[in-house]
Amino acid sequence: MGGYRGGKQTVEGVKCLDVNWLNRNGYFKTYFTPGKSALGTVRWTYNGNPSGDIRTRTEEGRFILEYKYRQGGEDWEEVTQGISLIWTSCNYGGQRPWFTCSNCGRKVGKLYAGSKYFLCRHCYNLVYQSQREPLHYRLMNKAHNIQKKLGGHPGSAYSFPEKPKGMHWKTYNRLYKEYEFYDNASWIGAGIKMGIIEP
Ligand SMILES: [Zn+2]
Repeated sequence: MGGYRGGKQTVEGVKCLDVNWLNRNGYFKTYFTPGKSALGTVRWTYNGNPSGDIRTRTEEGRFILEYKYRQGGEDWEEVTQGISLIWTSCNYGGQRPWFTCSNCGRKVGKLYAGSKYFLCRHCYNLVYQSQREPLHYRLMNKAHNIQKKLGGHPGSAYSFPEKPKGMHWKTYNRLYKEYEFYDNASWIGAGIKMGIIEP
């Protein structure tokens, strides 16, 4: 499995269960019906090839996962994991589910197969890919996002966009200052990285 480059595993590199996706696709259909259990299968693919699947069912207020797990070259092991769901009211009516992390009890929308069990990203200490990008790169992105927000082209090669109609000068000037800050900072950051500037 990918996602283990440069130390920390990334959120994007491990199998993930999204509670809203499961809900939309009917996996919790019988959650509130006593004695009824909806069976399901979740399949993952990696580069277009099957990369494992798990069986799911609901049972007396729990969402049960069954799958095979193996660490390194060891034998396959059958794993059964029960996950409690929490339902909260939505602003526009209806209810939405949340997972309760089996390890820390956090209410989360996504669980990750960082190891044997599906747990929240805090428990597996997962980082987002973007958090692993070098600082100067993230600063540059912030500068570019301001250019895009104003309807301009992102990049130092492009001039800063004109003030859009209807935007207050105060807002525009603030965005320009922010842009300048991030743009300068990103060049300094890149300079440090390349050893041109001493930190
Ligand atoms: Zn957790």
